[in-house]
Amino acid sequence: MNGNRSALSPKRFSDTGRQKPVLPVVYHENYSIPLPRRHRFPMPKFAMIYRKLKEEGLADLSNTWVPEPISREVLYRIHEREYVDRFIEGSISDEQMQRIGLPWSGVLVERSRLAVAGTLLTARLAQKYGMACHTAGGTHHARREGGAGFCVFNDLAAAARELIAWGDASRVLIVDLDVHQGDGTAQILRGVQGAASFSIHCEVNYPEQKERGDLDVALPAGTGDEEYLEVLRQNLPRALSAFRPDLVIFDAGVDVHRGDRLGRFQMSGEGIRKRDRMVIGQCRSLGIPVAAVIGGGYSPLGDTAAVNALVERHALLFRTAAEYARDPGAGQTQLDIKQNFFKIPCVPSGQQPFT
Ligand SMILES: [Zn+2]
Repeated sequence: MNGNRSALSPKRFSDTGRQKPVLPVVYHENYSIPLPRRHRFPMPKFAMIYRKLKEEGLADLSNTWVPEPISREVLYRIHEREYVDRFIEGSISDEQMQRIGLPWSGVLVERSRLAVAGTLLTARLAQKYGMACHTAGGTHHARREGGAGFCVFNDLAAAARELIAWGDASRVLIVDLDVHQGDGTAQILRGVQGAASFSIHCEVNYPEQKERGDLDVALPAGTGDEEYLEVLRQNLPRALSAFRPDLVIFDAGVDVHRGDRLGRFQMSGEGIRKRDRMVIGQCRSLGIPVAAVIGGGYSPLGDTAAVNALVERHALLFRTAAEYARDPGAGQTQLDIKQNFFKIPCVPSGQQPFT
């Protein structure tokens, strides 16, 4: 990411004959961390997604934004202080780490803080440009008292809570279309003025105990494109008109796909494309900024072709979002933000995030 700046002149991009990418993309090279061999979480996917975006001309250093680790103060707003401190300092219990399902490490701490900052940065970029996408995020099972289900800190709740606390957004709607219910998000945001959640998920999937969000639609295992898209068509306008958000944070989890290891839905890639188009299209036509995160997606273990297929599914979101970012009516897309625009630390790509 932070390579030699001299090799990155604008000429290099014009030489390719490609249009410069206009969709703000948030990525950090430390999103993919080493895990024990054959661990069931597909950790390499984050770096692979970004590589694919570069190959397709959807990302280069001109539209890539790099987060810095989120502060403890932001995390204290959504999680119990003791949990945050114990996790960061490495004194967290084995039982809590078992619930998360990832082994504790210093790089996991850094990665978890980066990813929360990444979603907050994505939300701020969306407010500025109409549309922005995060190559990570959607850790919606993390609850106030601790993480769970591969989720350490809840980035969706953190971004909503932070923007509202700063007065930078007054009504933030989380549209969570990951196949699993965002139980942690619903729990954390309950009673938070100006934040709401809308979820479509599989009723017989993790978490066993669902939390009550603001609008929940539980669908049976085996749900396919047609039924899913009809439910979304009926409920999305309802959620948008009832809540009137000034920002939507969209969890575009692809574990709804029929090839997903944990999903239990039967959606196709085309169905996911239509889903994303419906969410982004409706929000943008109403002038609502959309900050999208990739959410869940799981491939069978040790199957390279399956990991590539998973990365391809995640890339669908960025292709759809880029179409809306190119549409002049869909938001300002000139990347002219000054570094101090943000209230969280961040640097445009090409500069060292850590010195
Ligand atoms: Zn999921």
